[in-house]
Amino acid sequence: MTDAPALPLKLFNSLTRSLEEFVPVHPGEARVYSCGPTVYNYPHIGNMRAYVFADTLGRTLSFKGYKLTHVINITDVGHLTDDADAGEDKLEKAAAERAQSIWDIARHYTEAYWADIKALNIRQPAHWSIATDYVPQMIDFAKAIADKHCYELDSGLYFDTASVNNYGRLARHGTDEGESRIDPVDGKRLPADFAIWRKTPAGETRQMEWDSPWGRGAPGWHLECSVMSEALLGFPFDIHTGGIDHREIHHPNEIAQNQAHSCSDASGARFWMHNNFLVERSGKMSKSSGEFLRVQLLTDKGYHPLAYRLLCLQAHYRSELEFSWDGLGAALTRLKRLVMAVAALRDADDAPVADRRLTDLLAKFDAAMSDDLNTAVALTLLEEAAAMKKIDAGQKRTALVAMDAVLGLDLLAISRADLRVRPKSATITEAEIEATLIRRKEARAAKEFAASDALRDELIAAGVEVMDGDPLGWDWRLEA
Ligand code: AMP
Ligand code: ZN
Repeated sequence: MTDAPALPLKLFNSLTRSLEEFVPVHPGEARVYSCGPTVYNYPHIGNMRAYVFADTLGRTLSFKGYKLTHVINITDVGHLTDDADAGEDKLEKAAAERAQSIWDIARHYTEAYWADIKALNIRQPAHWSIATDYVPQMIDFAKAIADKHCYELDSGLYFDTASVNNYGRLARHGTDEGESRIDPVDGKRLPADFAIWRKTPAGETRQMEWDSPWGRGAPGWHLECSVMSEALLGFPFDIHTGGIDHREIHHPNEIAQNQAHSCSDASGARFWMHNNFLVERSGKMSKSSGEFLRVQLLTDKGYHPLAYRLLCLQAHYRSELEFSWDGLGAALTRLKRLVMAVAALRDADDAPVADRRLTDLLAKFDAAMSDDLNTAVALTLLEEAAAMKKIDAGQKRTALVAMDAVLGLDLLAISRADLRVRPKSATITEAEIEATLIRRKEARAAKEFAASDALRDELIAAGVEVMDGDPLGWDWRLEA
């Protein structure tokens, strides 16, 4: 598609802190790079919010007619335990603690991450770029900028942030809005300077190390994204995404590298977009806090993973979202209602949408998504379409499929039964529950109330919540 879409897509650009119309670098195309996970541990559901956001953005670009090329990287080297250049390499540390090879650790957690991607119905990007596959290119990139923009210390090659114009403009460093940065490496000219290449300290060996003009060692974390985004998407490309934390250090450093490498002030991407955090009541979610909130934990407790996707869509991606089990339960109920409403349309034949009520809804849906991805409003429009009565089934199906292609709830593929996820702790089987409920119904019909109460108590003791008269016809729920 080369014509500009009828309704312009407005996106919030963190670079300018304003809404801007999306105009692609290459007409008809959208090239998007998302900072991926560091695969030293399982992703928590907060991390996965970043990919639900990137996926919703990609789906919206496809909906608007752009040919999407999406890249997500996998960081398997270079990311230190502290973003500000301190601490140890996260993967080396995990490998040492568990006496395992880094490659095994990276493979294990990459696969776990991909399982979560699938569970949340996140579309596969065109490329998963693995950092360790690009080390020679990273060395070439560093060589190209070393003379003008870097200096060497005993610990490695450092990027001189004073050598580019307006360093930290994305983070608003130097203004009240920006975070101050303290960096403990000895000998750095400025606290914000960062490692491009880290030398392996004398007398130590790393599992992962490569030869370079600055000695044996490993690349700094920020280098990989500059190198892989340019290699796979060109320079400049359209949109770079990540969590809001990346607006402070990682992305400003990528931009500084890109400026140095392109000998210009180009940041590398036209749009820099950031999702806000998922938080717990206790504060920022961390992989070390109490119960580790993984997608698997949601499933273990009986929540379908797409209820979490819906929970994310209920909030704007730029708003903080507080996680609670009650909130997830409410999202699951909303999902059940939608799945039931569309179930009757599964076997209908698609028909072109001509009904005015549906075309109006689709237009509103387009407007909501074009307004910086207003998924909260789009979701209510999807519900409105699903609830529409006295309307041609084929047209309704076509409209719902189009909306769901953007929101990604997989509504026409999942069934009521799929949503009834069995909690890991459950001891009673579905058949036993159904059989007990039938006996209870018979007891009630015979006015044997004591017997009926006893059966109910039996179910409660087995962790079954009996939901008499549930408007969704759910009847019972297994508690985790
Ligand atoms: P990491 O594996 O730590 O590099 O994080 C992967 C992605 O998740 C990055 O884009 C982070 O910015 C993002 N992220 C980390 N924590 C959260 C959170 N609590 N909520 C939303 N996004 C997050
Ligand atoms: Zn990155």
